[in-house]
Amino acid sequence: MMHDPTQFFSLKMLVSLTCGSVMACSSSAETASGGAGEELEPWQLAEKTEVWEPVPSKVEVPSGAPPSDAIALFDGQDLEEWEAEDGGPAKWLVEDDVVTVARRQGGIRTKRDFCDIQLHIEWRSPTDIKGMDGQDRGNSGVFLQERYEIQVLDSHENETYPNGQAAAVYKQHIPLVNATLPRGKWQSYDIIYTAPQFDADSELESPAYVTILHNGVLVQNHVKVQGKTEWIGEPSYEAHGCAPIFLQDHDAAVSFRNIWVREL
Ligand code: MG
Repeated sequence: MMHDPTQFFSLKMLVSLTCGSVMACSSSAETASGGAGEELEPWQLAEKTEVWEPVPSKVEVPSGAPPSDAIALFDGQDLEEWEAEDGGPAKWLVEDDVVTVARRQGGIRTKRDFCDIQLHIEWRSPTDIKGMDGQDRGNSGVFLQERYEIQVLDSHENETYPNGQAAAVYKQHIPLVNATLPRGKWQSYDIIYTAPQFDADSELESPAYVTILHNGVLVQNHVKVQGKTEWIGEPSYEAHGCAPIFLQDHDAAVSFRNIWVREL
């Protein structure tokens, strides 16, 4: 009599689902007992590795909007969550749900401090690039804890040193690929950041780590941050606590929108 392969597969799948694997199930079931010589059923064995606490809190994920547990840092309305580099009101230009760098007015930083975060930010390179190449073309930056720069740059057909292109941890980590869209298009960074830890003597206990998706593409995979971003010289750490997110004015009219953060 011929075996029905579909039936065999279904039976195997059922055993696999309840026991993890046919081998593990049969060998465990044969040897396990519930005490006093009582044999345990497979489902009783399976229960031993079920973890029921803690129950994750429910997060709403509305289409086109931040998750319900996110802090909206810029939702198109105003810069209430931000201040200027010198501490006064943020001077960047808000129009049509978008905020744009006010060139040579300095950067802006969040009024709140952050440690470990998931950050979503969308940005758009300016289309007027006359005479601007390399690091001069659409340069801005997302500074985590005001110190560690994730480069924002128009890296579409624009040669520069790769550890300074878009989505680089500036001068520390070259992105795995170049996922940059042409200037004028909206792009996104999704950044998962683990802050550095320092001991009571201000010595580095554990460095910062960062993972970045650029337009949904993994470009930095849990890379170790080597210290504060430096334009000249080697990076190093200086002890600090939770600190703001800073957006750079690099004399280019880069725009941002839909900025939200989740504290981890
Ligand atoms: Mg920059």
